[in-house]
Amino acid sequence: MKTVRLGKNREKSALNRHPWVFASGVSHVDGNTVPGEVVRVVDSAGAFLAYGTYNPHSAIALRLCEWDESNPPNTAWLHAKLAASVARRAGLSTVTDAMRLVFGESDGLPGVVADRYGDTVSLQISTAGAELWKPAIVEALVEICKPAGIYEKTDGDLLRLEGLEKLSGLLWGETPPPELTINENGLKFAIDIVEGQKTGFFLDQRANRAIVSGYAKDARVLDCFSYTGGFSVACAKADAASVTAVDSSVKALERLKQNAALNGAGSIETFAEDVFDALRRFAAEKRTFDLVILDPPKLAPTRTSLDKALRAYKDLAMRALLLLEPGGTLAMFSCSGGVSQADLQKAAAWGALDAGKQAQIVRRLSQDGDHPVLLSYPESEYLKGFVIKVI
Ligand code: SAH
Repeated sequence: MKTVRLGKNREKSALNRHPWVFASGVSHVDGNTVPGEVVRVVDSAGAFLAYGTYNPHSAIALRLCEWDESNPPNTAWLHAKLAASVARRAGLSTVTDAMRLVFGESDGLPGVVADRYGDTVSLQISTAGAELWKPAIVEALVEICKPAGIYEKTDGDLLRLEGLEKLSGLLWGETPPPELTINENGLKFAIDIVEGQKTGFFLDQRANRAIVSGYAKDARVLDCFSYTGGFSVACAKADAASVTAVDSSVKALERLKQNAALNGAGSIETFAEDVFDALRRFAAEKRTFDLVILDPPKLAPTRTSLDKALRAYKDLAMRALLLLEPGGTLAMFSCSGGVSQADLQKAAAWGALDAGKQAQIVRRLSQDGDHPVLLSYPESEYLKGFVIKVI
């Protein structure tokens, strides 16, 4: 195994078990490496720090994954890591058969995301290191999960930075059927792994869908950025007076209708429209709601786009609050890594001010437990949300 030496005083984050080392922290590599190869990482004096995968073409050159020198990453190591990660989710099987089995760095496997949807495992690779591991990962997952098929959905904004191509296709077993149905909190959702966004369904919102639908009884609900209706269907089944869903994707809304029917959720009004336009239109039409959900896509993938994103969150919060009367509820989320909980709270506060509304946070929300936040890697906390009440 080759050795990568860090520069002087560049070992601190590795000692703190943060999984990333930036290219500027690397001072020397002993020989030529294949991008993604497992290497020994040492400090400037040559003392062992960790094992990791090394990609000289990436800004995050090293992805550290093992701090025990006697346990070098190999096929058996990968198998053990995957098995432990899957076992940690065992408790979730009482509420769902769809869950994130492996959440990258948080589960000690940088660049590897694996989601289970019933009998199918969907795999997403986002680093050169994980790409080299792929055949061994597939073999291990077949043994551990005994799936009907493993399907790759490698996509994402950062892929190009790793020198990886967008890939999609069957890795093992059977292609998932387009009408695959999963169960979540007693509800059924049809998901299309092959054509759907992300790896198929937004699993990170599972607990929040249950929590937010707790505010839906007898409410006129507006679900903005509804995708295939995770929140809409949960609210309809929680005895909402009415549910209106807005998403720019016609395909997602077709699937939402199908999901409503699957659950006998009654009729859900849908608008294939830009949410910013729809919120303005509802205000002009003097339409009001009792519960508004805002679950936009990543508006700030990086810290550099933060200001623009915060203005967008503020605008969304303001426009949503304008449609609510005292007693009304706003559930707003940000899944942008670059936006902190405090940032989102500020955006909500500005939004309330501009809407002329008094409002209070009654609950803080985060990603569900199968998307764990590793304490030594706070970047893994990406989903933030609030339940806000107008008073
Ligand atoms: N709440 C959903 C997930 C939302 S994902 C769930 O629980 O499953 C974000 C969604 O926003 C996607 O479906 C995407 O099509 C939609 N979208 C992105 N930009 C939009 C815009 N400006 N207006 C309306 N929809 C948008």
